Amino acid sequence: MENHSVIIAGGGPGGLGVAATLEGWHPRFEGDYEFPSDDVQALAREHEQNPLALDQHVLLEQGHRPIEFFRMRHHPIQDAVPLDEWTLKFTKRNRADWLMLTTDGPGGLWNSVPREQMTLGPAHWMELSHYPIGKFYEQTGRNRDLNALVHREDLVPYYQAYAEELGLTPHIRSGIKVTSIKPADDDVAARFVVETVDQETGSETSYSCDHLVFGVGPRSVLRKLTARGTDQDYISFAYTHPDDYPGERILVIGGGRSADWAAQELHDAGRMVVYAMRQHPEGHLKLINDSRYLPYYRRWAEILAGGQERMGLLYGANVTAFEPDGVTAISTSEGPIQLQVDHVVVEIGGDPDYELLKSFDGNLTFHAKHDNFRFQLNQLVVDQATFESVDIPGLYPTGYTAQGTGLSVIGFHAACFLIAGDILRKLGAV
Ligand SMILES: Cc1cc2nc3c(=O)[nH]c(=O)nc-3n(C[C@H](O)[C@H](O)[C@H](O)COP(=O)(O)OP(=O)(O)OC[C@H]3O[C@@H](n4cnc5c(N)ncnc54)[C@H](O)[C@@H]3O)c2cc1C
Repeated sequence: MENHSVIIAGGGPGGLGVAATLEGWHPRFEGDYEFPSDDVQALAREHEQNPLALDQHVLLEQGHRPIEFFRMRHHPIQDAVPLDEWTLKFTKRNRADWLMLTTDGPGGLWNSVPREQMTLGPAHWMELSHYPIGKFYEQTGRNRDLNALVHREDLVPYYQAYAEELGLTPHIRSGIKVTSIKPADDDVAARFVVETVDQETGSETSYSCDHLVFGVGPRSVLRKLTARGTDQDYISFAYTHPDDYPGERILVIGGGRSADWAAQELHDAGRMVVYAMRQHPEGHLKLINDSRYLPYYRRWAEILAGGQERMGLLYGANVTAFEPDGVTAISTSEGPIQLQVDHVVVEIGGDPDYELLKSFDGNLTFHAKHDNFRFQLNQLVVDQATFESVDIPGLYPTGYTAQGTGLSVIGFHAACFLIAGDILRKLGAV
């Protein structure tokens, strides 16, 4: 069985940051920086050449959040820091033995978001510090504002360039789905066995490792619509672009930000849209109002204020059946209705695939996370100094699946240093 010291499941921003650090890109602090706490400042100065060597439990015991130790250097102010003013730098050291297994390539779910999708926050919030997005813009001749939203056509190439620039690509196997993570039997000289299937050939392979970085992301299993007839060929279970759906009348089922995006884009492409969601108008209108800093929510406000001739909103609605020829049955607070449509787009989100861990004894401890970006998921509870799972020693949730991360990539990226630091200290490599 192929063995590695560390296996990283998932190639999203969460997994990539850990990979780069394990590849030997170790942070250091340089120049004129200042932490708000004198104690933290003293520790930072003492360890500035190799902060990964610092056991972050010291900070935790003093009442500080270890993830902030690195985040404050990456994002010391609200706006993006010009490249020549960074106090977070990197030293290239030896690589640890890591391998990434992932379905999508670098960039994770950004590979499959709608073709015109913009981020909900500025470019520098999406950045992984080892290779600044400003440097990527410069190197690829992109004239962009670091404080502006990013189009996926810039973001996915950025994450791909990150993998290339930092020498990660040879250790990333994409098109590989992890099907289970198990405790290794006594005859395997490792802690975990990772079972996988090649998505193209169907061939199954097992790997073993001592450290498992769990970065499968917030929607590795799509939620299922409980309605009759979901196998009708006029239904799509992910939205991409208006050109991908035939016909005039489109039913969008959802209610979160992704469904909002789909319904609006289809409407603005001239389609007749019926948008059905379970929630009641108050919840949806609050999201629209609270999100007016985003162009597409300002557009929503315009659509609602206008005649809405091509946008029918069905609140408190539950789609119960899809019949042949586009006939759909929907129960609403006013009673059941039937709609005749040309196509249906379902955007009801997903959840992290914790079933992958079902072979471990005992229950996993979860933290219910609800953020302003409308992410609602259960995160694995972790030691806040190392991001090691409190339930499964050697397992490190990364990205959105770990408790204690803040909003967005800016909120979780710094955890990669806590994870890699803990692994490298255990390996005696820092
Ligand atoms: C439409 C949309 C807009 C968003 N906008 C923003 C934004 O503006 N800012 C922001 O910070 N965040 C945004 N997000 C949140 C997004 O989740 C994060 O940007 C980020 O992608 C999360 O990183 P991750 O590494 O946790 O997971 P992901 O990006 O989801 O990456 C995990 C990857 O793991 C792989 N994987 C999953 N299951 C398996 C398996 N069984 N085996 C092997 N590989 C597997 C897949 O390739 C998956 O893509 C948005 C999300 C969506 C859907």
